[in-house]
Amino acid sequence: MKLVMIKKKSVFKFFISLFCISILNFFVFYLFSIKSNTLSTSAIDENTFQNKVSSLINQKEKIAYLTFDDGPTLTSTPKILDILSEENVKATFFVVGKHVKEHPELVKRAYDEGHYIANHSYSHNNDRLYINSDSFINEILSTDVEIGKAIGIENYHSHVFRFPNGYMAPRYKAKKQEYAKRLPDIDYTYIDWNALNKDSEKKYSNAELLNNLKESSKNKGTLVILMHDTSDVNDTHLVLKDSIHYLKEQGYTFQNFYNLK
Ligand SMILES: [Zn+2]
Repeated sequence: MKLVMIKKKSVFKFFISLFCISILNFFVFYLFSIKSNTLSTSAIDENTFQNKVSSLINQKEKIAYLTFDDGPTLTSTPKILDILSEENVKATFFVVGKHVKEHPELVKRAYDEGHYIANHSYSHNNDRLYINSDSFINEILSTDVEIGKAIGIENYHSHVFRFPNGYMAPRYKAKKQEYAKRLPDIDYTYIDWNALNKDSEKKYSNAELLNNLKESSKNKGTLVILMHDTSDVNDTHLVLKDSIHYLKEQGYTFQNFYNLK
């Protein structure tokens, strides 16, 4: 009988200990989950520069981001820079690495005048860009190196990439989707546009270029506007002043990606 009592007591003690350990485990687990929640929230912090850039197109504020692709070129970039300076507008230039190498002084001028220098690949040649994901990443990194040399900043990092022809273009879509996943590894994001004057599509009159911009920006909040500082199809500098005046009349203010840092 005594033996049974002792056995009962130790069984009781055993269950009490088990209960206490479970309670302790529960609290440890609870505290850990709070901590890991905090960590994962900060990892997807909505206020990172990259998130702000990639969500621009969905914003309601009347802010216009003028972006000029494919330069720098002698025939266009200086004229565009003159007008931006006269209008006191800061823009973003998505430069092509090989053109930066040809005209570093133009990139230096754009940078010194407060424009954001962003990355549009080294070759702008899709067949070369999409050989494999390493060549894609190398095109971005070597463009940053060229920009750095032009503006005298070692380890220059633009953080913003625009796919030649845009991420939204159907050609090479699968490769773009796959390679874009590597962009966060090099601290990069990408952005397309939500308004444009179609200056690279075909020859337009100046009135038509302006009208293309009006049509594509109608009823939109924040605008990321695609233009080109090249002159092989159209001369956007001829309509740039009117385009800026039109946007100002519509209540727009101008920013570039520095405003998001
Ligand atoms: Zn381009």
